[in-house]
Amino acid sequence: MTIWLADDVASEMERLGSIYYPLETGGMLLGWRDGRDRIATGLIGPGPHALHGRYTFAPDGGWQRARLRDIFSATAGDLDYLGDWHTHPDGVAVMSELDRRTLSKIERRVRVPLMVILAGAENKWDIGSWLGSKSGYLTRVSASEEETKVFDAPTGWPVTLHVD
Ligand SMILES: [Zn+2]
Repeated sequence: MTIWLADDVASEMERLGSIYYPLETGGMLLGWRDGRDRIATGLIGPGPHALHGRYTFAPDGGWQRARLRDIFSATAGDLDYLGDWHTHPDGVAVMSELDRRTLSKIERRVRVPLMVILAGAENKWDIGSWLGSKSGYLTRVSASEEETKVFDAPTGWPVTLHVD
């Protein structure tokens, strides 16, 4: 399985990560599914009332949901909510226990949710991607790391960045 990130989406996550460094930031990823692959061409930022900590991040949920509605109507539903992204300043691109709990929460809204983590510092970020899956009656979502590829989105593709 491969997580494809449009280069504009990847560079916007890196730009935001560098602006907020050494504090965490993050947001939502939008796009579509191709089997188990995910193609992310849309990004929503943290929002004006997000809380950015050294080891925590809480998005401005109301602002993000309003942007999500804007994007759904502007793209006639071409872009679905895929999952979330956030940074680990001076950290490593691995899922923390809190990230696993967050992924389990997202799984209640979207099947096989995506979580993208950028680890590093200003101008140098490593990107890792995970998909959460739930088996049977178990409440816990297991996260599997997937290959991440940044690609040059063709002209005319629905690339959209909503940061402020
Ligand atoms: Zn994290």
